[in-house]
Amino acid sequence: MRLPPRPDLTWKDDGTPVDARVGDVYFSIEDGLAESRAVFLAGCGLPGAWASGADHTIAELGFGTGLNFLAAWQMWRAHRTGAGWLSFVSFEGYPLDVEDIARALTPWPELRPLAEKLCAAWPARAKGIRQITWPEERLTLTLHIGRIEDTLPGAQFTADAWFLDGFSPAKNAAMWDEALWPEMARRSRPGTRASTFTVAGAVRRGLQNAGFAIEKKPGHGRKRERLEAVFKPTEAALPRQPVCPPKVAIVGAGIAGASLARVLHDRGAQVRVYDRATGPGQGTSGNPMALVMPRLDAGETVQAQLLIDAYLTAQAFYQDRPGVIQTETFHRPRDARETERFAKLLADPPLGLEQLEALSGGGLLHKKSLIVTPQQLLPALLDGIEGVWSTDADVDRHARTVNGEGYDAVILASGSALAAICPELELTGRLGQVDWVQSQVDAPPSALACGHYAIASGSARLWGATFAAHSGGPPETSEAARLENAAALETLSPYWVKDARRGEVKSRAGVRATTADRLPLIGPLVDAAEMAADRQVLERARWQIAPEDYAVPGTYIIGGLGSRGFTWAPWAARLISADIFGDPDPATPETRRAIVPNRQILRKLKRQTG
Ligand code: SAM
Repeated sequence: MRLPPRPDLTWKDDGTPVDARVGDVYFSIEDGLAESRAVFLAGCGLPGAWASGADHTIAELGFGTGLNFLAAWQMWRAHRTGAGWLSFVSFEGYPLDVEDIARALTPWPELRPLAEKLCAAWPARAKGIRQITWPEERLTLTLHIGRIEDTLPGAQFTADAWFLDGFSPAKNAAMWDEALWPEMARRSRPGTRASTFTVAGAVRRGLQNAGFAIEKKPGHGRKRERLEAVFKPTEAALPRQPVCPPKVAIVGAGIAGASLARVLHDRGAQVRVYDRATGPGQGTSGNPMALVMPRLDAGETVQAQLLIDAYLTAQAFYQDRPGVIQTETFHRPRDARETERFAKLLADPPLGLEQLEALSGGGLLHKKSLIVTPQQLLPALLDGIEGVWSTDADVDRHARTVNGEGYDAVILASGSALAAICPELELTGRLGQVDWVQSQVDAPPSALACGHYAIASGSARLWGATFAAHSGGPPETSEAARLENAAALETLSPYWVKDARRGEVKSRAGVRATTADRLPLIGPLVDAAEMAADRQVLERARWQIAPEDYAVPGTYIIGGLGSRGFTWAPWAARLISADIFGDPDPATPETRRAIVPNRQILRKLKRQTG
């Protein structure tokens, strides 16, 4: 099943939540918070480990109600120092509904303000990696939703502390499987701590065999013992040191550059954005309105997961920002193939009812899609960030300079202009035209999609977009594109057409950079010459390379977003930010491989030898 299952949640008379499938409690109602502090926080040397002001990563097995997370957050608020950032990575196979999280946490009024923040941001029920960032708290929660055996092997982070809280080993062996220990070791550094409430023999042996030194400690409350562990205590355990905020240049102030600037600025980087235009969003991102809706694939593939991760990240990132309105999109199949795809999708949907509904006649209703007004959103994203406008950026990727100025990281996010800056990549420009009118009538936000789309919000009506071959040069609107869009609108909404005919139709065209496999290019820039020189080595290695291979250090690209720029941009921004700061990754090795730029060079070299 593609949707993560709910737990079999029941409540004891005293309010203790229990998963009846397992037959165990999430926490003890009398003193759950005190136990969480004693077993997990103190057990991992917190808050002492935060004194240096360095970044810190806690990994937890079993997010449950979020009690441990909130206990850590509360402690972090009281004890964080300097510019340190707390990353809390947690794994959960049976996510609770948000109402149940709120109910479970009611016994602790002192946690209420934090519980409310968590509940307000609680992600949709879907498998994958969800990141919630509270910049004002210097805190990110990374949730891996799915069974531990499926999620932990692909999770990319290094932990400073582990909270092992996966129900009792006797009742829930899956969370304590022997495969777990080497996976933990792989994500630990000398000195990484681990703590748990159980001293079960298999847990002790597993930790020890993986390189942890263990120690039994007196248990909390009525429990006799608990366990503390340290990874490779005999090796020089260098405490993490605070790092200087990186100085970062972003080339391009469309939605990719603006989202990245916001994410990096919030994370503490010194950001400067370069654009040859006089302000943000004057290229392809600058249509009067844009629609953020998902592309949902029928199979449970890497691409399908990527599209869901990107869509849900965009939803959460744009929520409550200026120029963003939530709306339902009525998505009708365009042909028999799409009808079949939708039917297959609905037989095992990847998103829950709060997101997705089946329409009679075979369509999809996307309940939380967004209408974005870029002229409001982009300046808001760039608020407080230095812009260098009306300036062509001359990038030297090996020297990591822009117009002669040196940076710790340089990111190219200049849409269709990337093809000229990165000739080693294969980007094809596609012309997209939208048309719009101001109506006499105010309408609530709504959207229709069927290949093309139509958006109404207030008096604005916008429809499009074409996706045509582009022969280069500045994008120009055309009567042919207007007729194509008008014909599509006729099918989407005959009623609108009448409305649209009354006003003066305006048009705008932009060039979308696309790739052959229709997936974006997100990640390190590639040293294509070095790859070409290594062609025989690569062939001998059967063309297997890691996403980070042949990267030009400190340089990145966000490009090839096609007609889904507003959907990909926030997820891409999180990925690049994770790379620059060494934070927990929003991608797995598989999803990274699908979007990493070096794949294109590899394919080219393969073709040449074939
Ligand atoms: N730390 C939680 C808290 O603060 O509320 C309590 C965690 S509870 C004791 C154990 C958690 O592990 C449950 O939320 C359960 O759904 C999750 N879990 C159990 N088996 C799992 C599996 N195979 N994969 C992923 N999560 C699992």
